[in-house]
Amino acid sequence: MQNALSFRHVLTPDGMVHDVTLEVGPDGRITALRPAVGPFHGELALPGIPDAHSHCFQRLLAGHGEVPSGSDSFWSWREAMYRAAARIDAEALHAIARQCYAEALAGGYTSVAEFHYLHHAPDGARGPELAAAVIEAAREVGIHLVLLPVYYQTGGFGQPARPEQARFVHATVDEFLRLLESVQGRVPLGVAPHSLRAVPPEILPVLVREVRALLGSATPFHIHVAEQVAEVEACRAAHGATPVELLARSVELDAHWNLVHATHASEAELALIAARDATVVICPSTEAYLGDGLCDVETLQRAGGALAIGSDANTRLDAIEELRWLEYGQRLRSRQRARLADGRGLGEPLWTGVVDAGARALGEKVGGLAIGQRADLLSVRTDGALLGHDPARWLDALIIGGSRADIEDVYVAGQRVVSGGVHRDATRIRADFGRAARRLLRGEA
Ligand SMILES: [Zn+2]
Repeated sequence: MQNALSFRHVLTPDGMVHDVTLEVGPDGRITALRPAVGPFHGELALPGIPDAHSHCFQRLLAGHGEVPSGSDSFWSWREAMYRAAARIDAEALHAIARQCYAEALAGGYTSVAEFHYLHHAPDGARGPELAAAVIEAAREVGIHLVLLPVYYQTGGFGQPARPEQARFVHATVDEFLRLLESVQGRVPLGVAPHSLRAVPPEILPVLVREVRALLGSATPFHIHVAEQVAEVEACRAAHGATPVELLARSVELDAHWNLVHATHASEAELALIAARDATVVICPSTEAYLGDGLCDVETLQRAGGALAIGSDANTRLDAIEELRWLEYGQRLRSRQRARLADGRGLGEPLWTGVVDAGARALGEKVGGLAIGQRADLLSVRTDGALLGHDPARWLDALIIGGSRADIEDVYVAGQRVVSGGVHRDATRIRADFGRAARRLLRGEA
């Protein structure tokens, strides 16, 4: 089905253009940009943001673990997360993922890299049912999914997996490859070695080789790295190297690698990541939520490094808010303003930067509103945060003062999935999520 979408202002990789119709082919890709005469579908079209790091099941936990227990850290939160995850079955995951992805779309994300590690049923049964629940949820909701099955083998540096990690664990790379085979062809796949904590360095190259043999040499790899100071210290004690050093020593870092968090990466490590063309995925609201710390994003940017964003724990799905906190984190860190801005202002370089890097992180053609890219876009209202501003400053006004409430319509592959800020199936999705959450969190039947 041919489709045409017209806007008064369109943010392209080359800057803002005016009075443009986007022609969308039957495969959902943009085939042409031509002058428009109206009627218009909206005032301002922005490319949808690829969410480069999500754990959809954690949407269940937003608001839990906020009563002080004496020692509240990432590690105590993780224990609470394990307890909740232990009860999630395929039916509940399907309901949680639909809620999460519907909110993601309304919050400005049009594709998502799902870092999926809830593999086995609560009773330990093997099979692709939980991955299938995520795939089906994304299909129903209309977000574009890249599934990143997670390889998880050990419970810490040189330590066996703990019982509460049993649902995440594959004993061998071969066993993990069977899971990949069972979902291959259903959605685009990448692979995520969970972290250096969970995958011994001698196993990493084996995993990469086997995955590339099965899925091809362009397969994206994602890994949590240097999120916590305790993780960096434990890695040093076990291997005499930091996680980034150990990773770079174990595999050939290149443009297919995506390092999630890199919170405690040193200046030299960030320069190395940039020089190898790997991408860093920052998850600003989650890193604040978990008390991780702040990555030195300015150094990464000065080194020319690619930076994508992720919604991670999914406590709130709002890409605009994530971008604001990406900048604000650097302001708080440096006690100075306009840290990630350039001559274009703040909003345009931030937005186009994370769209471009996010597309690469997902291995998808969603790098902006241009010919050949998928027509994933947001129509932004101009009577909210943008009101009264010159169009040249709209993106700045959106990042500083806006939120997902400013997103009017959302299109994936040229098809509208959110209208007036509301997902097309929001009522049913909310009802199912509410039922699943009450069952899991409050024990209701
Ligand atoms: Zn994560």
